[in-house]
Amino acid sequence: MSRLRSAAGRLRAVAAQSRAVAPRSRAVRYLRRFALRDSGAVNPYTIFADIIAGRAPASVVYDDPDVLAFLDIRPVTPGHLLVVPKVVARNLAELDPALGGKLFQVGQRLAAALRESEVGCDGVNFFLADGVTAGQEVFHVHLHVIPRTPGDGFGLRARATSPQRADLDYLAGSIRGALSR
Ligand code: AMP
Repeated sequence: MSRLRSAAGRLRAVAAQSRAVAPRSRAVRYLRRFALRDSGAVNPYTIFADIIAGRAPASVVYDDPDVLAFLDIRPVTPGHLLVVPKVVARNLAELDPALGGKLFQVGQRLAAALRESEVGCDGVNFFLADGVTAGQEVFHVHLHVIPRTPGDGFGLRARATSPQRADLDYLAGSIRGALSR
């Protein structure tokens, strides 16, 4: 339900943005695509495809043949950036690992630039949501680069647990097994 509510909020925001820069029919087309995704089918279309193609506005900070980075339209802190591959990869499993490495490299450079820029942050968080359960909303892989300043209100909510070493070792073995398959 909250996912639906937040989707409705995003739809209104995107519709308002689309009205400012493009004809109404374009916003309607976009809303229909979004509705398809929220119905459970994974729609291959994302707004990032339009941004990469130059069909939708973005405040770009970095551009090379493989990677684009731009300001998040709903920043959790000022200067919040998204780093995206130019080829379509809906999730980590579809992303060429070399390109994944490049996303991280660009993220590193941007973290340094954020500290030097007028954003003037003291720290940076990287965040990547892979899958609906992880909070992914746009199905085109993207690395969030989030500038941090004291008391900025950003944080991850989680409850740490204290498993036995034997349980950790058991899981480590299971994961090693999956890696070697
Ligand atoms: P995630 O939940 O990791 O999939 O994050 C998707 C992010 O994309 C959110 O932080 C949105 O604010 C951001 N976003 C969605 N549409 C746009 C857009 N047109 N321009 C920039 N950022 C966007």
